[in-house]
Amino acid sequence: METEPFSLDLRSPLSTASGPISRREGFLVRVEHDGVVGLGEATPLPGWTESYAECEDALSGMRGPESLPSETGEAGRPRRPAARHGAELAVATAEARAAGESLAAFLADETPADTVAVNATVGDGSVDATAGATREAVEEGFSTVKVKVGARDPDVDATRLRAVREAAGDDVGLRADANGAWDVETARRMLDVAAELDFSYVEQPLPSADVEGHADLRGRGVGVALDESLATAGPARVLAADAADALVCKPMALGGPIRTLDVARQASERGVDVVVTTTIDAVIARVGAVHVAAALPDVPACGLATGAMLADDLAPDPAPVEGGRIRVPAGPGLAGDAFSALRQPPE
Ligand SMILES: [Mg+2]
Repeated sequence: METEPFSLDLRSPLSTASGPISRREGFLVRVEHDGVVGLGEATPLPGWTESYAECEDALSGMRGPESLPSETGEAGRPRRPAARHGAELAVATAEARAAGESLAAFLADETPADTVAVNATVGDGSVDATAGATREAVEEGFSTVKVKVGARDPDVDATRLRAVREAAGDDVGLRADANGAWDVETARRMLDVAAELDFSYVEQPLPSADVEGHADLRGRGVGVALDESLATAGPARVLAADAADALVCKPMALGGPIRTLDVARQASERGVDVVVTTTIDAVIARVGAVHVAAALPDVPACGLATGAMLADDLAPDPAPVEGGRIRVPAGPGLAGDAFSALRQPPE
């Protein structure tokens, strides 16, 4: 197994639990399996995965597929999820290529989807800016829009949610993401507003550690989706507490594509939906996440339209967003010959 560090600038700073970041730094991973090279990507994100230094250290200790770390911490959380993701994705793409199958076909129990619907994300902004961005997304063909809330006074956010529904019309699926910003009373009030406006779900209304609090928020006429809680409390605890109607799964934070599908199967046994999204990854992990989404039966719109947040990338994107959907690359592995240059180690 070989790794090659990369650093990609973001178009604009991204706020994370550990402060704003202006670039994504990670590792391209190459694994040879049966004479076929597979690519993976390990791109740690503060607050969601191990640190860059821990990721680098974990990757340097991995010799190949046989040394994929299997150890997990509390509640089924892998200890070094980004490093594990890089190795697991590389091994899986090599095996899929060797079998002449797309990664989605290799991973799926049944025939995978040809295309995956994706949501547009409308960031925090004034009421007018929020309505304008929603209209633009609908004009581009998105049938699901997610709006960021929680940074403003709840009354202003309530007005923004109404403006989003009005701009989107009745047929567009809507979601709100509070990133853990509210207390219980505010969350109840805002969920009632979202229910009245026929939003599908509100993501992470309460701080991530409050798993029980989320369980209590369910049943108010709008779904509760959990994202940050999967990284902090872990999927096993979230599912055991019946804390969510939907899980927002980031393969990079869950330790790899196969780990993510395991979580999705456990969720689906409990009637919990799974949405696949990224940690603002480079193209290898993004395309990997597209295959994971395609491998899930009846996956709802996913948070996979994140490529535009990067100013630069490792290679051209073979799975771009078009009209609110991504066509799943059909060639063997991630995308046939699309990444052949990256499969060659640098001279
Ligand atoms: Mg989120």
